[in-house]
Amino acid sequence: MNERDEISGASSGSYHYTRVVELPGHTLRARIERGYYINRSFAVAEVLSDDGAWTSVAADGPGNWWHDTPTPGSDVQVVATLGELAEVLLRRAAGMLAVQPATRTISPHVNGAISALLATSYGFDGEKRVEPDDIVWAYDHGGALYVLEHPDGSVTFTKAHREGCPFVISAGAQDCDDDCCFPHPAEVGRKPWN
Ligand SMILES: [Zn+2]
Repeated sequence: MNERDEISGASSGSYHYTRVVELPGHTLRARIERGYYINRSFAVAEVLSDDGAWTSVAADGPGNWWHDTPTPGSDVQVVATLGELAEVLLRRAAGMLAVQPATRTISPHVNGAISALLATSYGFDGEKRVEPDDIVWAYDHGGALYVLEHPDGSVTFTKAHREGCPFVISAGAQDCDDDCCFPHPAEVGRKPWN
């Protein structure tokens, strides 16, 4: 990672740290705000897209770090306090970008399929908010997300298959070779947030 920029600041109400790094093909930044209140705090890693917009790639819920950081004040050593969290976020984001291009756009058809996934899981007027912890947990358990658009118009969303599986390689035109077993989360050791 090549360092590009670093900004930090502190006041009595909050302190913040932003670090921008350059990777081959990607510009990434970690942006952390530690507010006096937990709900005014966030930690996110973003990638710069071709149109100049920053898109969120990874985040860490304030519940994981807010309690371990000092109350805002002008004497807070911001980089020493938030530097490690920024490093972890940047490394996680770099890992995700290496697996899958984050700037990939969603076709109208896949958008429709996500709508159907939500409607069939949570009802036609369904709503589901996914927390940063849920996203981290999903990355840590099961396979990578694959979205396979089939010629008949159906769409498969799956976390059940490894990268080299025939099902994934052929975009669902072939069967799985049944070698895509992932350990159940209960057997992995780390339990989800409850
Ligand atoms: Zn498979």
